[in-house]
Amino acid sequence: MNKNFWLLVGSQTLYGDDVLRTVDERAAEMVEYLNNSGILPYGLIYKGTAKSNEEISSVVREANYDRECAGIITWCHTFSPSKMWINGLASLQKPYCHLATQYNREIPNSEIDMDFMNLNQAAHGDREHGFIAARLRIPRKVIAGYWKDENVISRLASWMRAAIGVAVSKELKVMRFGDNMREVAVTEGDKVETQAKLGWQVNTWAVGDLVKEMGEVTDSEIDALMAEYSSKYDFATENVEAIRYQAREEIAIEKMMCREGCLAFSNTFQDLYGMEQLPGLASQHLMSKGYGYGGEGDWKVAAMTAIMKAMGENGNGASAFMEDYTYHLESGNEYSLGAHMLEVCPSLSAGRPRIETHHLGIGMNEKDPARLVFEGKAGKAIVVSLVDMGGRLRLICQDIECVKPIMDMPNLPVARVMWRPMPDLLTGVECWITAGGAHHTVLSYDVSAEQMRDFANMMQIEFVHIGKDTTVESLEEKLMIADLVWKLK
Ligand code: MN
Repeated sequence: MNKNFWLLVGSQTLYGDDVLRTVDERAAEMVEYLNNSGILPYGLIYKGTAKSNEEISSVVREANYDRECAGIITWCHTFSPSKMWINGLASLQKPYCHLATQYNREIPNSEIDMDFMNLNQAAHGDREHGFIAARLRIPRKVIAGYWKDENVISRLASWMRAAIGVAVSKELKVMRFGDNMREVAVTEGDKVETQAKLGWQVNTWAVGDLVKEMGEVTDSEIDALMAEYSSKYDFATENVEAIRYQAREEIAIEKMMCREGCLAFSNTFQDLYGMEQLPGLASQHLMSKGYGYGGEGDWKVAAMTAIMKAMGENGNGASAFMEDYTYHLESGNEYSLGAHMLEVCPSLSAGRPRIETHHLGIGMNEKDPARLVFEGKAGKAIVVSLVDMGGRLRLICQDIECVKPIMDMPNLPVARVMWRPMPDLLTGVECWITAGGAHHTVLSYDVSAEQMRDFANMMQIEFVHIGKDTTVESLEEKLMIADLVWKLK
């Protein structure tokens, strides 16, 4: 993704040219160091030392209009009186991070005098700068620490990835084939409100259009995709025609999405008119390429999957559409088993996935759909659900610990992931249900809860985090207060 971030350093003319030249040189040095650290996922561009209202407003205007600029980072080497920031910050439309650092790591005992103090007064300048964002109620991330410390650069990198999620969200288009599954509540939502808040353009295309597109896919296009499948997956079925049919579906869906600039799609097993199979392998392979997907018409989870994939490692991390299915309630050894009817992204796989064909009783499948079957990998992860509370969106994020599934489940014909939600299965389930979290989630090994909180803050939507210290009682109180707060907003 061709995105970058801007560093804007705050100062004022009071200090004179010599000091301002030093500030300028040091800011450029800092940007070069950060860019060469190998830790930042996107480039940082130094946009100069701002000394007046006009200069700050001008950079903000430029940032708002520059499609490649995904956010601005500010730092005050010296004191920068913040009334000169009001007009600029009040019109800022990009994610904003305040890096509270200073050029020198240590106070130089014998050298320090008033000249040194005047040049190196980030502790002073950053407080003035922090006040104005608090006073204007501007969402921002504050990161404090020495700029050469790996931990600080990593936190900046993490914030950049969350800001990329915002950039993707604001331009996201979702292609819906058919409506939501009949009677389901949690997959519904206000598409107008969501577009106003998150930018998503969610629109529908007829399944018949897809069937027509599928009819135009050529054998050589299918041959090429079959070769790709065999390079990535083991064929564990004799039914090659079923796999070729999935390839036909994948090619047609991708062509339609490319034509419309869509990065996510949803469909429903209740509306497959003219199709022989629910897209299984087709949806799974599209997800592995970075597309978002939601089953049963769930456009919210489709969009969140695309966004979290873009936030992850290399712009296509191990994040996937997931569904809570069933529990293992053995005392002291409790787990949740997640899967889907077919569509789990192979980015979660611990090994090389197998292509299998099995009968699918649900829906209107005439033929046995091909799908990828695998076990999810072990490791720390999160599950994320976006629900429409009526008048506002709530983003719920729970920490989980994925494990190698504790049993083989040889007759389960779908990909599966097993995990223990935090703080423990039963409390975790009680918290999730109390918060109104959906059965559909995005499961991610790559994106952190802090990044989701940053994303929610930048988007100004409610964020609920369920972690190792959460209790049902504390959560209920938070939700009750949030209900009041969001009614006032
Ligand atoms: Mn589902």
